[in-house]
Amino acid sequence: MSPHAFNNEGPIEYTNGFVVEPAAPRVPGFGTLAVHAGQEPDQVTGAVIPPLSLSTTFAQSAAGVHKGFDYSRSGNPTRNAFEVAVAALEGGKYGLAFASGSNTTATVLNLVQSGGHIVSVNDTYGGTFRYFTKVASNNGVGVTFVDLYDPENLRTAIQPNTKLVWIETPTNPTLRLVDIARIAEIAHSYDQNILLVVDNTFMSPYFQQPLSLGADIVVHSVTKYINGHSDVVMGVAVTSDDAIHDRLRFLQNSIGGVPSAFDCFLANRGLKTLHLRMKAHESNATAIARYLESHPKVAEVIYPGLPSHRQHELARRQQKGFGGMLSFRLRNGDLEASNTFLASLKIFALAESLGGVESLAELPAVMTHASLTPEAREALGVTDSLIRMSVGVEEVEDLIDDIEQALNAAVKL
Ligand SMILES: *Cc1c(COP(=O)(O)O)cnc(C)c1O
Repeated sequence: MSPHAFNNEGPIEYTNGFVVEPAAPRVPGFGTLAVHAGQEPDQVTGAVIPPLSLSTTFAQSAAGVHKGFDYSRSGNPTRNAFEVAVAALEGGKYGLAFASGSNTTATVLNLVQSGGHIVSVNDTYGGTFRYFTKVASNNGVGVTFVDLYDPENLRTAIQPNTKLVWIETPTNPTLRLVDIARIAEIAHSYDQNILLVVDNTFMSPYFQQPLSLGADIVVHSVTKYINGHSDVVMGVAVTSDDAIHDRLRFLQNSIGGVPSAFDCFLANRGLKTLHLRMKAHESNATAIARYLESHPKVAEVIYPGLPSHRQHELARRQQKGFGGMLSFRLRNGDLEASNTFLASLKIFALAESLGGVESLAELPAVMTHASLTPEAREALGVTDSLIRMSVGVEEVEDLIDDIEQALNAAVKL
């Protein structure tokens, strides 16, 4: 088996005797892949958990003759195991791990040469926006941002030199959705070979698989749900296209933004429970979204799983669930009320980032989205009363009690 490909056609035989024998050609379920893909027991010792391979170099039996590894930037057994696992979960052929989500973005953008152009959804992750406007543009790559609530808007932004379309769905922190299948159709209808890249960080492969909807490349900040324990900064890209893979593999080695073997080991360990965690994140987030929506001290709740979400139908169609992220506005809220609410929380930590087992809350206007101009924040609906929550996997009654007492402290009606 190729170190980068996960075969989900025939029976899968593990050296520990475990055989997945599909009745008809049946792909193992998500949880089975999460636990087993890329995780062959160690051939020397039989260790069921593949060992953490810290070596930077690999002995060769003759000059240029080795077991598939020569130097750890170019390829590392622990990194390979992780890459195979994520590729399997995204339903893709190849995974490529990077030192961060941001480094993944930068490396993928190197697919576009100077003189090229990209189109990006307008409310992309702040660091992605910064890379596009302050780095890629200095390297001669033009960028146009466009509101893709109506996918047809994409046509207005495409230029003869457009090489890549970048979308993120749901977006942060207002959880707007982009119709991946429709955007793929439009992008691919031009005969200039436009690649569609989807940042799938918020959904994780458990709830959304963009390759199956027509995307060419999926990227993640592994820092969030895939690792899931808030102790690794890392990124990954997945594709099924041989030529894109070859080029990205070349860029991964040439630019060299690779993650450490130790981080790959931790992220792989986290990934084995992705399906269990995502179910818990979603059921907690759903309960909290419903509770908040019926609360007199809350003006608005934004959660794709609520029928009140403007794109609830699209969420039902393209996602397999609604995830663990939600945002809401305090009634008659202002900066002071938001600060009191956040300071009063006892279980939720006031912190940036998302996707870990622990619940977090933050104020985008002052924290994650502070670098936007006030006008840009206004246009996106990032007001001083908008609070974002990354709902963790604690007991939901405790989370709701925590929110209730903080609402009582912050909002006097
Ligand atoms: C965090 C994040 C990134 C950047 O990832 P890092 O691992 O922090 O570099 C990119 N996209 C989204 C949606 C994110 O949430």
